[in-house]
Amino acid sequence: MNKSARLDRKFVWHPFTQMRDWLKRGPIVIASGRGALLRDIRGRQYIDANSSIWTNLHGHRNSKINAAISKQLNKISHSSALGLANEPAGLLAERLVKIASSKSATQTPALSKVFLSDDGSTAVEVALKLAYEFSRRTKKIKQPKFLSLDQAYHGDTVGAVSLGHIDRFHKNFSGLLFKSAKVMAPYCYRCPFNRAKPERDDARNYRKCHWECAGLLEKKFSAQKKTGNPFAAFVFEPLLQGAAGMIPQPETWLQRAAEIARSQGALLIADEVMTGFGRTGKLFACQNEKVQPDFLCLAKGLTGGYLPMAATLTTQEVFDAFLGEYEEFKAFFHGHSFSGNQLGAAAALASLEILQTKKSVRQRAQLKKNLHAELQSLWSLPNVGDIRQVGLVAGIELVKNWRTREPFALRERAGIRVCEAMAKHGVLTRPVGNVIVLMPPYCTTAAQTRKMIRAIVDSVREVFGNLKT
Ligand code: PMP
Repeated sequence: MNKSARLDRKFVWHPFTQMRDWLKRGPIVIASGRGALLRDIRGRQYIDANSSIWTNLHGHRNSKINAAISKQLNKISHSSALGLANEPAGLLAERLVKIASSKSATQTPALSKVFLSDDGSTAVEVALKLAYEFSRRTKKIKQPKFLSLDQAYHGDTVGAVSLGHIDRFHKNFSGLLFKSAKVMAPYCYRCPFNRAKPERDDARNYRKCHWECAGLLEKKFSAQKKTGNPFAAFVFEPLLQGAAGMIPQPETWLQRAAEIARSQGALLIADEVMTGFGRTGKLFACQNEKVQPDFLCLAKGLTGGYLPMAATLTTQEVFDAFLGEYEEFKAFFHGHSFSGNQLGAAAALASLEILQTKKSVRQRAQLKKNLHAELQSLWSLPNVGDIRQVGLVAGIELVKNWRTREPFALRERAGIRVCEAMAKHGVLTRPVGNVIVLMPPYCTTAAQTRKMIRAIVDSVREVFGNLKT
């Protein structure tokens, strides 16, 4: 075993990883990257099929982002945002406000203020605290209540975990958390009311959707209102829930949900940590359904996946609620040492510039098409139950039996085993449960897309054999 692997095994504790399993084998040690490829210290190449956990946009070692960081590096890497301003942070805030304000969105004032922090969890944590304080101050709600979606994941800090509803991640911490309410989220493939119809399914199994999930949301809001303490805010991932298993919301659900929440006086907190920056088609997922939230949480792709940086955008109205005399202590008592970091802001500005070029728009449209075309071949595999694509994101749900949709038990580690086999075929991704995630960088070529799908076909066959169902 080489030195890096030895050091890793001896000292490093990996996130979301059963370290007993990790220590049984030698890790893949990444040494470099270029475009959609990663290279390990032994010189083996892999396609970065989940964009390094959903962060990378334009590929690794992008010349424009590299140049922007180097240029900034020669000026200064970091000075504090507590008491000081800096140029890249100001320019970035201006740019984010410009691109986040959808002209066609109705009902709310524009997003015009930007609070910078470090990662997705802190972006959500900031929105949560701002919404809490704003509701107490302006709406005189004593104990503001939050509603989020079943299977929601909004990060790992304690506030963000409190908004989450994935038992296997969150249950262990229940004693630490504040209580938030949850409501059914759409999951058409496993809908308890109507069976959505994947491409190859039997038409007899299909019943028409009557929007029961939206009905339940409406009921939840009404019931809470009757308590005299209506929900202060509704928190959601727009268009698709990532860590829940890449589960898309049916068209217009987001619009309906936003209308229901607004009509009940709730603030909208959109967590676009995963969906932001072009992953779903538009720059932000909310823009696909003309929904303008009161809080927009961004991270991951903000710097093109180069550096940890996050932003929470909000309205002038929210900002104004924190104005007052010094001794009133109405300031927002929250901040991080690296808020507004210059290197991160320089990378983000370069990334946003690339994102808005015609070339990048064309590249994304092409990748979406390539992915769609290649994914179709997976329907022939007996252990593929559902294939879900939203823009440039795909989730492939593995099942024991595609006719009955019987899931694999988690202890069978179906998703993990397939991803381990894919790595041997030169494709790296991480499953969420039994769902294989494909979310490659935007520069992924047609040949690389084909290779990713081929790796799934071969790996599913190797892992399950010709399991006939
Ligand atoms: N929100 C969503 C929707 C996410 O997918 C994630 C991370 N997967 C987070 C928040 C937390 O982001 P981070 O890991 O950067 O804290």
